[in-house]
Amino acid sequence: MSYPRTIFHWIDDAEVAGAGGQTFEKRSPMDDRVIAAVTRGSAADVTRAVDVAAAAADSWSRLPAPKRGEILGRAASRLRANERELAEIVQAETGKPWKNAVAEVGSSADLAVFMESEGSRFYGKTMTSPIPNRSVRTERSPIGVCAAIMPFNSPLAGVAWKAFPALLCGNAVVAKSHELTPHTAVAFGKLLQDAGLPRGVYSVVQGIGAEVGTPLVEDPRVGLVSFTGSVPTGKLVQQIVSARPLLAKVCLELGGKNPLIVCDDADLTVAAEHAVASAFIDAGQRCAAGSRLIVFDRVYDAFREALVARTAAVKVGSGPQDDCGPVISRQSLDRLLRAVDGAVQRGARILAGGQAVASLAPGYYMTPTVLENVAHDDEVSQQELFGPVTCLYRAAGFDEAIRMANATAFGLTGAIHTFNNNRIEQFITRYRAGLVSINGPTYGAGPHMPFGGVKNSGNGFREPGTEALDVYSEWKTVVVNHDPARV
Ligand code: NAD
Repeated sequence: MSYPRTIFHWIDDAEVAGAGGQTFEKRSPMDDRVIAAVTRGSAADVTRAVDVAAAAADSWSRLPAPKRGEILGRAASRLRANERELAEIVQAETGKPWKNAVAEVGSSADLAVFMESEGSRFYGKTMTSPIPNRSVRTERSPIGVCAAIMPFNSPLAGVAWKAFPALLCGNAVVAKSHELTPHTAVAFGKLLQDAGLPRGVYSVVQGIGAEVGTPLVEDPRVGLVSFTGSVPTGKLVQQIVSARPLLAKVCLELGGKNPLIVCDDADLTVAAEHAVASAFIDAGQRCAAGSRLIVFDRVYDAFREALVARTAAVKVGSGPQDDCGPVISRQSLDRLLRAVDGAVQRGARILAGGQAVASLAPGYYMTPTVLENVAHDDEVSQQELFGPVTCLYRAAGFDEAIRMANATAFGLTGAIHTFNNNRIEQFITRYRAGLVSINGPTYGAGPHMPFGGVKNSGNGFREPGTEALDVYSEWKTVVVNHDPARV
């Protein structure tokens, strides 16, 4: 695979330069080399992309949903056929270990298959009416032009999660690539073109958030903004939409500070295995990362020992056998090292890691890091770090563990390790989050599973699953008086 030296917008089914002619550098997280010059888009480029999408949306929406689904089915086949090439692009941009890059292609194909079959359902419902000769039903209608704004951590799955349901529902999509993972969404556009998606239905703009994201969100022709990213940017997006003369639907999928509770009856080996996977897959750059490990006092010392031993076995690198890749940028690595230093100055103890990996420099690799003795109100306990750092907390018992699990502004995912049915049911009921996992990791999504959060982790929508159709379509209630003279 040759990663392109220049990365363009994808507008009207072609790679195009920006109107301003400016670019910025894309560096490899694996070795800090500049690997591409990326088109630095402007408001004019956004307008052009939305023009194209608005012109293409109507005829696409009138293609029957099962036919739209067929195109997604062909996209799934192409994803699988081009697995290696796409995984290479994902890895070049993120540095994630090879097995994780490959898995991202597979899960994107799985989602296309799931959404293809939704095209054959796409159900509404019929309702009775107290009025004779009247029928009432609901049907889904498309929104028109959808903006898809993505984070960097899983660039292919990120765009697939938004584009596949949006297209199935009959919308045109303008995606805004993350500036640190710019090319994946363009490669995805070429794949959709090969699969037979009509021209102009899917476009991509490149650039800095404030320079292209804001004009995209402001464009009155954009009827839905589907945003995945951090809480501050999500709140800003909602404010921008609120200030528009014409409102739009806003779907926010935001961060997490996800707890994993280890009770005194847990299988500590299994719990440590899941805690390590939750904390360090994708170098902890996952909304569902397990960043707070809350352990019953009675088993704290034994779990800590198992956790530290398991953490030491995590292979850092981007190769086929590796588990934990680099973080996305030099700034991110520096921010994480500062956060750990600050926590240590406030009393935290480092049980593992806490440093950049010297042997892999200048790549942005950090040793998987476990901290203990961190206060619950410390910023490291409250803010999403988005890196390979997790904290260990001691809880006197179940009630305290639940209270600690709920004591952040986030509510995305959480896990508990126990074989006590009462604790399991209590955790499901009392821990406030969009996804709970029993005796597993803090992550766990699939094409058929609704995913999203409560509190600052989201604004109530769920992607994907059939629930994603509720993001990308509007319900229309239809009332037909088929014999109005005889009511
Ligand atoms: P970010 O908020 O910095 O950026 C997200 C996107 O917003 C980028 O494409 C960026 O260019 C764009 N953006 C920035 N300013 C903008 C503006 N003014 N207007 C419009 N768009 C703008 O987030 P990030 O660091 O890329 O991603 C990490 C975050 O994403 C974490 O908080 C993580 O938890 C979250 N995330 C959530 C989920 C989920 O499903 N809930 C999944 C993955 C990641």
